[in-house]
Formats: sequence, C-alpha cells, structure tokens
Amino acid sequence: MALQILLNGAKGRMGQTIAGLAGEVGVIIRAGLDVGDDLAAHIARCDVIIDFSSHQATARVLEVATKHRKAVVIGTTGHSAADKKRLLALAAKVPCVWAGNFSVGVNLLFALTQRAASVLGADYDAEVVEMHHRFKKDAPSGTAARLLEIILEERKLDAGALRHGRSGITGERKSTEVGVHALRGGDVVGDHTVLFATLGERLELTHKASDRAIFARGALRAANWVVKQKPGVYDMQDVLGLK
Ligand code: NAD
Repeated sequence: MALQILLNGAKGRMGQTIAGLAGEVGVIIRAGLDVGDDLAAHIARCDVIIDFSSHQATARVLEVATKHRKAVVIGTTGHSAADKKRLLALAAKVPCVWAGNFSVGVNLLFALTQRAASVLGADYDAEVVEMHHRFKKDAPSGTAARLLEIILEERKLDAGALRHGRSGITGERKSTEVGVHALRGGDVVGDHTVLFATLGERLELTHKASDRAIFARGALRAANWVVKQKPGVYDMQDVLGLK
C-alpha cells in the first residue's frame, strides 16, 4: 500500500512542493497540517510525519511521533544547539531522518568538505558563505551549520572558533577562526560555498540549488526509507548509502 504521510508545515514553500510531488513519487499525503492544527488527531492513519515547519514545532512533532510509534522526517532548521541536543534524544526513540539539507549534491558537498579540510590543514583559512531568499527566518542556514560542524570537527575546534560576519577593527584573521557569512535576498533557493584560502591559492567548493523540488524529492525518499528502519536518528548520508 502507498505510504501515508502526515505533512506538517503543509502551507509553506517546502510543504507545497512536497505535496505537489507526492503523486509522482507514489505516496499519499493523508493529512496536510499547518500552524494551529492538531497532529494527534491525524497521526493514527499515517505511517510517517514529514516536518518542514518551524523550529518551535519540532518538540510537539517528536512527542506525537514517539507516543504513537511513528517514523519521522525532520527538515526544519533553526534549532539552538541546546534544543537540538534535547530533541535528538527524543527523536532516537523512533526511526528518524533529520537532515538540514535533503539534496544529493549537498550531501556530496559535505563529504568533499571533510576531505578538503583534512588534506588542506590549518594553514588554509576556512570560510563558509551562504545565500537564501529574503523570506528565510534563520541564519546561518542548517546546511551552513553542518558544513561548519564538519570543519570544526576536522580541525578539533569548538563553536567558539566561529566568526559570524566581521565589522570594525577586527585585527588580522587568526588561523583558528572559521568565518561564516549569511546573505539574504530575492528568491535564491540556496547557495553554499566553502572556501579554503592560503598564501598563493584558494579552493572554493560551491553548490547552488535552483529548485526546491530537490529537497522535496529527498525528503520523500527519506520517508520511504525510514519506515523500514529500526529506531534511531539517521541523516541523508544514511538514506543515500554514502557512509
Ligand atoms: P515557510 O515559511 O514557507 O513554511 C513554513 C510553514 O510552516 C508555514 O506554512 C507556517 O505556517 C508553518 N508553521 C509554522 N509554525 C508551525 C507549527 N507550529 N506547526 C505547524 N506548522 C507551522 O518555510 P519553508 O521555506 O517551507 O521552510 C520550512 C523549514 O524547512 C525551515 O526551517 C527551512 O529552513 C527548512 N528547509 C529545510 C530544507 C532541507 O533540505 N532540510 C530545505 C528547505 C527548507
């Protein structure tokens, strides 16, 4: 039988894109919910929750999923580090795919960034630049946050090393800094560049999304995959078999 989906954030940009692709992918949006709707009233008829809404909704989504033992796909971004840690512990009680970016290209960018950070070492200054549409509510993006995490892990640095933009007399750049810059404007779906610069050369790894259907297809693929998994938190690298 076709997968029955509870879609949270159904009236949003991603929600509408996912609903538009459901027929093509062969799944059914059993319930399309948005702010103010009651998840618990619709969960029984669904196999999986897909959430692209607000970071404030994630606790409730996971509470309902764990109570009713349903799989869940979280695409929402913007959680604080402390909130995310608490939410991941809850998410691990059910099969859950949690990904800041569902595109195949970006998941390859994650792998390439790790390789570049490892080969190039601390003498190559690392900076992440992202650009999104003017309506985006959080910054830096979930994808930029993951790219930064990868660089910090590889360089054995903590979040104190991050420089969110620069202004004024900042002094010379320290080799332990990792810069991050969030541009906002127009209808940009999502651009990410990771730069590694040293004296004499610079490497730039860039991904540009031009259609949010890539995220929607990835989220639907994750939904089909996660319902067959044991409880635990997975990412898109697991879904794509990139690990
Ligand atoms: P959007 O603002 O267009 O849509 C969000 C929708 O969620 C709105 O309809 C809003 O009414 C609804 N909403 C808000 N609070 C809610 C609540 N408590 N319960 C239910 N619905 C609620 O935003 P968007 O561009 O569709 O993005 C949604 C989220 O997905 C953002 O966090 C964004 O960063 C993220 N996103 C993730 C990926 C990915 O690949 N992981 C890709 C694109 C966007």
